[in-house]
Amino acid sequence: MKAGGALLEAEGLVRRYTMRRGMFGRAVDVRAVDGVSLRLERGRTLGLVGESGCGKSTTGRLVLGMESPDAGSVSFDGRTMPAPGTAAWRALRMRMQMVFQDPLGALDRRLPIGAQVIEPLDIHGIGDPAARAARVQELLRAVGLRPDQAARYPHELSGGQRQRAVLARALATDPALLVCDEPISALDVSIQAQVMNLLVELQERFGTALLFISHDLRAVRQVSHRVAVMYLGRIVEEGEPDAVLHDPAHPYARALVSAIPHPGRGGRRIVLQGDPPNPADRPSGCAFHPRCPVASARCAQDVPPLKPRADGRLVACHVAHGDAAAGQGTDRQEAA
Ligand code: SF4
Repeated sequence: MKAGGALLEAEGLVRRYTMRRGMFGRAVDVRAVDGVSLRLERGRTLGLVGESGCGKSTTGRLVLGMESPDAGSVSFDGRTMPAPGTAAWRALRMRMQMVFQDPLGALDRRLPIGAQVIEPLDIHGIGDPAARAARVQELLRAVGLRPDQAARYPHELSGGQRQRAVLARALATDPALLVCDEPISALDVSIQAQVMNLLVELQERFGTALLFISHDLRAVRQVSHRVAVMYLGRIVEEGEPDAVLHDPAHPYARALVSAIPHPGRGGRRIVLQGDPPNPADRPSGCAFHPRCPVASARCAQDVPPLKPRADGRLVACHVAHGDAAAGQGTDRQEAA
């Protein structure tokens, strides 16, 4: 482990899929993730936001080694991620867990909650039977469930209780990183705030870093220390939540933020023109240019590099940097 280094670093991740147009159509190469680089410090939260299909969930799976990238690399705690399925990968994965959107789908309906929370401890041979049983009780309390609810089956719990059980299971091996993929979007609105508060509380208590993937900007703002906005497989803006979510610099981020209902806030909602992008038919230059309200002539030709502005945030936009400066900075997105 490198002292003082980031917990998680991803460099130039690319993930391609092959799609066929129609039954006999030609195969098309789709880049779901197209040169994404991330850095997450210990005990901190990086919020990853964007529309459905922008590549944020695929990025989460690449980071955990659930899928292999076609290019790029991931390092965790200073070590390059081993090949999926190897003993070294399983040992690292014990310290990186995933929380999925649908708690009912993530749990085994045939097993009581307690048996599912204890399972990772059994798999990794952590503690003796008495210590494991005590750990289950401790974890259930930590997530706001009663120890006697260990005997309940998933269908006997509410949606919020099920997501608490999923969190207890994810925390069983004391992971340093949780990748939370839309962890509240399947829950009732009345329960979402409870689960969000619980995530913040658990992070403070256990020091777990979170990669928080969501299309819900209010949720992202609540938990994140840093925010990255994705569009069509690339990060287009990254920085402190106060900057990115209050005064976005990228036109796409501005449109996303303008759609958040905010009583008393001035400003109008920006309605994007044109169809949502088709990853199989990526526009030339800046992929956002067909929908961008401030596109200039060069936007259809030159890919804007993701590069720092004077205020410290990273932005991939010719206009946000001033046309003259475009293309001269560090191009993290093009690294792949
Ligand atoms: Fe809009 Fe051009 Fe900026 Fe892309 S580079 S977001 S098209 S202004």
